[in-house]
Amino acid sequence: MTKYISTRGDKREITGAEATITGLAGDRGLYVPKEIPKLPMEISEMLDMPYKQVAFHIIKSFFDDFTDEELKFCIDGAYDKKFDKAEIVPLVQAGTGHILELFHGKTAAFKDMALSILPYLMTTALKKHDINKKVCILTATSGDTGKAALEGFADVEGTEIIVFYPHKAVSLVQEKQMTTQDGKNTHVYAIKGNFDDAQRGVKSIFSDRELAKKLSQSGVLLSSANSINIGRLVPQVAYYVYAYIKLLERKIIEFGEEINVVVPTGNFGNILASYYAKKMGIPIRGFICASNENKVLTDFFQTGKYNTNREFKVTNSPSMDILVSSNLERLIYHVYNDVYDDKTASEKVVELMDNLDKTGTFTIEPEVFKRLSEFYSGFATEDETLQTIKSLYNKHDYLSDTHTAVAYNVYYKYKIGCCDERETIIAATASPYKFPKSVGHALGITDEVDEFQIIRKIKEKTNISVPKSFTELESKPVNHKTVIEKEQMKEMVLELI
Ligand SMILES: *Cc1c(COP(=O)(O)O)cnc(C)c1O
Repeated sequence: MTKYISTRGDKREITGAEATITGLAGDRGLYVPKEIPKLPMEISEMLDMPYKQVAFHIIKSFFDDFTDEELKFCIDGAYDKKFDKAEIVPLVQAGTGHILELFHGKTAAFKDMALSILPYLMTTALKKHDINKKVCILTATSGDTGKAALEGFADVEGTEIIVFYPHKAVSLVQEKQMTTQDGKNTHVYAIKGNFDDAQRGVKSIFSDRELAKKLSQSGVLLSSANSINIGRLVPQVAYYVYAYIKLLERKIIEFGEEINVVVPTGNFGNILASYYAKKMGIPIRGFICASNENKVLTDFFQTGKYNTNREFKVTNSPSMDILVSSNLERLIYHVYNDVYDDKTASEKVVELMDNLDKTGTFTIEPEVFKRLSEFYSGFATEDETLQTIKSLYNKHDYLSDTHTAVAYNVYYKYKIGCCDERETIIAATASPYKFPKSVGHALGITDEVDEFQIIRKIKEKTNISVPKSFTELESKPVNHKTVIEKEQMKEMVLELI
């Protein structure tokens, strides 16, 4: 059975269901699989499988404490008509790159891939363990996670979902998506502060023992919908396996042929899922980590030093505006474990994360850094991002959002710079309509200020269909209007119970 342990030394082994319910480990570490499972069958046996079936085999390998029936129920509930493409994740070619479109779910960002199944996994896990508590899901968001979590958990029995987003720091579309959310158990607050303040507030609520006691007395359990939860990472491994199979089916690659993947990276969850796919047995040569001007990860993979002591920039790819990438902790744990053993690995992780708290930096050992050579990193500037949207559209008739453009730009630089001709999968993480201002700007639509008007103009110009849920957004009534001080976050949780 695949068991989960904390990256920070708590060696108690728990199941996938337990890890999903818990979210963050008691020692503040993240749960990782003790052994990353191998593919349950030959890749050749997976040819022509629909997405749901691939997802079943991959998720089952990680969460083998769930029965087949339980998992099928979760997968059927998650990957259904909510997705506007029957394939769920289409793989399309643009130029030399293969673009894996992960944004066809309800909220038009890749977060739907995991957040449409997480509520099913969580409620099924609670039932399995006979836990009769109400789960309260706390989420800090820079825009995309919040809406995807709200959609996933809305009116799911036995849950309440609370989302905190930074007031006036998300796009109008993102804000409207959240404030018009239906569902009796949904709670949305704008906080007067930035995303870091929201994230810090949520973390402090998690470590507040007094609050935990109060909640426990009222039969409430706290959990997380952020990618610190392993239940969000595991479903993401499936689409990398699926994409590799698609390349085989289309005879673009041969069995065993190595490919590269490019991932526009923020919290390091999506790219870590591709690393797990490789560990399972998918032949991936290079992981290309693409950043915007907040290029902490670019510098880290080039030097071995992680340094957050720099200016935080607000960019046109806001979902990647982040200086502390939580899931990097998982990669560091795995690589230290490869060089030493699990005990030493968790000691090192504690030491490094301590340094990060105290000084804003940490540096990994040269011996470990060498093992990271399969990670290539690069970044795109604001201008390069818009230029890439423009040239992808003009040359290849492909309209990308800003985050996907960052990835494509870095892919191109890598291909030229490293003369690497391997077939490459580029993760496309959002619909272009989610960031209409920047995308419109790249297309030369500069005379409009109203985001919904820009959406109509982009549609006129490109004839690419607008996600269904967007058309009603403009006129939908706002249900959530509360703006709070950042010090009031805990109060809002207490008020709820
Ligand atoms: C969340 C997000 C990312 C970053 O993904 P991580 O898993 O946090 O690295 C990139 N693009 C978009 C559009 C996102 O919403």
